[in-house]
Amino acid sequence: MRYQVVADTARGDLFMSDSLGLEQGYPMFGVRVRANVFALASSAQRLTAISDSTPTVLLWLADDPPQDEDFIARLRSRGLTAMLAIPTYFVGRNGRPGWQDLRNDQALGFGIAAHSRTHSATTADGPDFVGEVLGSITDLDSMGFAPTTFVEPGNWPEAIAFDSVAKFKTWRASMVRTFAWVFASRVGPGTQPEPLTASTAFGIGHWTVSDGLPDSLIQSLWRQANQRGHFTAFGIHTWKLPSPGALDWFLDSLSQAQKAGRVRLIPDVVVSAPALDSVNEPR
Ligand SMILES: [Zn+2]
Repeated sequence: MRYQVVADTARGDLFMSDSLGLEQGYPMFGVRVRANVFALASSAQRLTAISDSTPTVLLWLADDPPQDEDFIARLRSRGLTAMLAIPTYFVGRNGRPGWQDLRNDQALGFGIAAHSRTHSATTADGPDFVGEVLGSITDLDSMGFAPTTFVEPGNWPEAIAFDSVAKFKTWRASMVRTFAWVFASRVGPGTQPEPLTASTAFGIGHWTVSDGLPDSLIQSLWRQANQRGHFTAFGIHTWKLPSPGALDWFLDSLSQAQKAGRVRLIPDVVVSAPALDSVNEPR
C-alpha cells in the first residue's frame, strides 16, 4: 500500500500481483475509527420492544441550533422528550448547545443521535462521506454518548443522498449499517406499522413539522400518528420555526395524549429484537 494520511483519512493505492505476477494498482482510502465503535450497532440489538398496540411517537430536533435550548424547555415543561440529531463539529460553536448541555439533556431522558460532522452540502462521495458518518459516530462515542442512530443530513448531494430504495443497496448503505442500528433517511413515510424491525428501522422516514408546514397538515399527520399499532417520527428544525412557540399547540396535544396513555413518546427508536440472520438482509 502507498498512502498519505491527512487528518484521520488515508488516501492512496493498494498494489496486488495477479496470477501472472503482474502488479495491479487499486485506489484505496481508510478512515480511522475507535475500535469500540464497531460494537455500538451490535449492542443495540439487545433492546427489547414493548409489544402492545399503543402508538409510538418520536420527535427529533436536528442540527444542534441555539434555538434548541428554548424548545427543550417547552418540551420539558410538558413532560416530553426528544432525540437530538447532532452534527458533531457544530457542538458548542456560535452559541450552540455544547457537550455539557447535551450530557444534561441525555440525563433528562433525551436521546442523542449522530447527524454527520459538518452537515455540508459539499460532502463528497468516498472518504469524505465515510469520514462524515463514522467521524460523527466516533466523536459522540468519544464524548460518552454511544450513539446507535445516524440521521442523514437533508442537504447531502445526490451521489450520497439516501432518497430511493436503490440507494440502500450500495456499499454506502452497507457501511452505515455496520455502524448504526437505526438510520433516519429522507425516503419513506414518517408513519409505519409497529414493531419496527432491523430492516424497517434502517432507512426509517420522518415527517418534518417545522419549515413552514401549515398547521392543518401537521394536524392530519398527528391524526395518522394516533393510529394504534403505528410508529411515527416527527423531525423539527427549531431554527426554522416562524416563532419559538409556533408548535406549542402540537406539543400540548402530544402531552395530553401521552398523559392519557393514548400515545407513547420515546427518545430513541426502539427496534424489536430480531433473529440475528435478518440483520444483514437487503432492504
Ligand atoms: Zn440536519
